[in-house]
Amino acid sequence: MARLTGGCLCGAVTYSLEYLPGDVADICFCRECRKASGAASLPWVQVPPSRFRVTKGRARGYASSAHATRWFCPDCGGPLYMTDDEGRSVGVTLGSLDAPEAIRPTVQGWVCERVSWQAWDETLPAYEKAPPYDL
Ligand SMILES: [Zn+2]
Ligand SMILES: [Zn+2]
Repeated sequence: MARLTGGCLCGAVTYSLEYLPGDVADICFCRECRKASGAASLPWVQVPPSRFRVTKGRARGYASSAHATRWFCPDCGGPLYMTDDEGRSVGVTLGSLDAPEAIRPTVQGWVCERVSWQAWDETLPAYEKAPPYDL
């Protein structure tokens, strides 16, 4: 198990998570991730809520769908994590990790919404629409 830390650009909100090999790490090409981040794709890792906690500050939530809330820093706007109403998992943005090399995505989701100029990895499994782990 690896204990990893992360936070937003300005440092007002920080978190820690415990990562286990086998936790799903994916790159999402969906429109919502694009709009929420301003980037053409957004990499995530999914962990159980018991293995994630905010360690400093307080993120602001935005209900981006009927079941999911995206959490970001209220000061700098950095996208940090995502939760679901049922508490199944917490999706944490890999780009907000202090050591983003620590986790390598192994799957891709929502490739049907991929922007054509955004490269994707043809060697990794890809889901046309919602992957099974999606919130
Ligand atoms: Zn911030
Ligand atoms: Zn997405």
